[in-house]
Amino acid sequence: MDQNFVNEMLDKLIKAKDEILQFLLAENSDFQAMVKEKDMDPKDLADIAADDIDRNTLDALGVAEVRRLRLIDSAISRIKNDRYGICVRCNKLIPTERLKAIPYALMCVPCQTEEERKNR
Ligand SMILES: [Zn+2]
Repeated sequence: MDQNFVNEMLDKLIKAKDEILQFLLAENSDFQAMVKEKDMDPKDLADIAADDIDRNTLDALGVAEVRRLRLIDSAISRIKNDRYGICVRCNKLIPTERLKAIPYALMCVPCQTEEERKNR
């Protein structure tokens, strides 16, 4: 995978993560309470690794944004492991057009469709 492209996607992922955290901070009182309890600086939220936030706490928040946050973190760790853009299900390359539209996509379209069909 082209390194420039990957860097561009990493940038997008970090921004998207920041936006979600800011949204949660503004809209979600449970999240606000958690940040307060852990004495986090909201300005540093974008740097928070998923591990810094108690996974149970995240589950308790139970909002769509948290799921997206998880996907973003998975995508970021896949960039670090040099596995970004490779479908987690069939190991084929995910088309760059798809990654541009959804930088945190972990599966190619056929696999994603199949997963959604299964989960219905
Ligand atoms: Zn696939």
